[in-house]
Amino acid sequence: MTYDLNPRPLNPAPPAPVIDWPNGKKSALFIGFDVDAETAWIGNNHANVDRMVTTSLGGYDARVGIAKILELLEELGLKATFFIPGWTAEAHTASCEPIVATGHEIAHHGYLHKCPDRNKLEEAKEEIDRGLEALQSRLGITPIGYRAPSGENFPELLAYLTECGLRYSSSFRDDIRPYRHRLADGRPGPVEIPVNYAFDDWNFGITSRLDGRPLFGRDAILPIWREEFAGTHEWGGVTTLVLHPQVSGRPMRWRILRDFLAEIAARDDVWIATGAEILAHYEAGTEAA
Ligand SMILES: [Zn+2]
Repeated sequence: MTYDLNPRPLNPAPPAPVIDWPNGKKSALFIGFDVDAETAWIGNNHANVDRMVTTSLGGYDARVGIAKILELLEELGLKATFFIPGWTAEAHTASCEPIVATGHEIAHHGYLHKCPDRNKLEEAKEEIDRGLEALQSRLGITPIGYRAPSGENFPELLAYLTECGLRYSSSFRDDIRPYRHRLADGRPGPVEIPVNYAFDDWNFGITSRLDGRPLFGRDAILPIWREEFAGTHEWGGVTTLVLHPQVSGRPMRWRILRDFLAEIAARDDVWIATGAEILAHYEAGTEAA
């Protein structure tokens, strides 16, 4: 692999259009959960598969986290999008089935949560293929949304997503509004619903024996979330949450998330929508003939 370091926009997508949100709402909230389970620990470090305590951080998803998150969404009357690696769907089918049964959206999150690597194109494509197969065979789902495991992407993968019927991505960090990707050959790619590190619970709420990190509580997190949401709302953007049941399904985190979501749900000027709903709105509003 040689690297093209010539100066150019490394994301060739045109600017995001200004779109009106439905029913006069001022901004959108996209609640996304990544149901990594053990893949968060074994996908990029296979040796961890023999470390039962390390992987038990991810095992929390199936034993506790998913059910508690579904309970919270039910309590607040909200629908979310769950990005599920194929491995999780196969290893924890029974824990994932209630996500489908309660009407939430299921989206693609790789197979073993391997970070997409342009130097391993076949592996990256295999992650897409096996993820699609697992969601179909275990949950009966053909997803239209994709969030890159470990949040990475590259031109050939964007093109492959399009080829595989994945119509939106939620991984890039370069905007506050949805926009459509432009593939390397100029064809349109998936719609991006961009994310924001400020709303990734992994940054604040998980620590492990091999990667000890400080934990942050309510007094640190709620001001960050409230302020970033307030600004995004004022600018008419989409607040995209990157949450993990193994983080936000923990007792303290669950309470913080409940209070944040309840504050937004109580407003009448925010459109709370799944990725599929945002995609449909984007396509209808900006690309309708
Ligand atoms: Zn993930």
